[in-house]
Amino acid sequence: MLNDGEKGVVIQRDKQTYAVAPHLPCGVVTPDQLRTIAAVAEKYHAQALKITSAERIAIVGIQEQDIDAVWNDLGMSQAHMVGMCVRSVKVCPGTTFCKRAQQDSLAVGMLWDEKYHGLSTPGKLKFGVSGCPNQCAETCIKDIGLVGTAKGWRLYAGGCGGTMPRLAELVADGLSTEEAIAMADRVIEWYKSHVKAKERLSKVLGREGLDSLKQFLGLPI
Ligand code: SF4
Repeated sequence: MLNDGEKGVVIQRDKQTYAVAPHLPCGVVTPDQLRTIAAVAEKYHAQALKITSAERIAIVGIQEQDIDAVWNDLGMSQAHMVGMCVRSVKVCPGTTFCKRAQQDSLAVGMLWDEKYHGLSTPGKLKFGVSGCPNQCAETCIKDIGLVGTAKGWRLYAGGCGGTMPRLAELVADGLSTEEAIAMADRVIEWYKSHVKAKERLSKVLGREGLDSLKQFLGLPI
């Protein structure tokens, strides 16, 4: 029996089969990748293909003896679905495709994905990037997120879903892309310097307060 995360799998409810999910940065997938995923699902008799909330495609119901062959046939890297790390960067289409977009969420999301996906962190960490205040990437419940406006980016921190949901707090407004990316790095630094055990950023921010984070970032309180 494999543990969750081992060989990029998650054990399923039947306690016998596994889900695997290739890493698809920001949920952007090519027709060739889709064909490969579909072919692998058929070849190894998957029970289902499930689009996940983290913008992945999970191949569900794979037997343990097939796991290595599945990854070999996929030829793709493994998504970090479990563990204390940056799990996902959820991104809306932004100015690349969406008529309402005010900032290029897809470009920033791809950059964050390349930089952070799988990075070891004190607790699980999720990013969200939305091209406008409609927040289709659910920035408001992400640990670190951006929302595009006509004046630049709004940076949010400390949101999460789950059993103790919390809305993210506005940290800074009117940021350029470069400023927003640099500030997100500093938010992670603040998180690492204030965390106890495996707390999520939302819990740390709730305990320490937004002013502590803003002071660390050199922002007016
Ligand atoms: S958040 Fe705004 S830019 Fe992004 S998909 Fe939704 S409406 Fe479009």
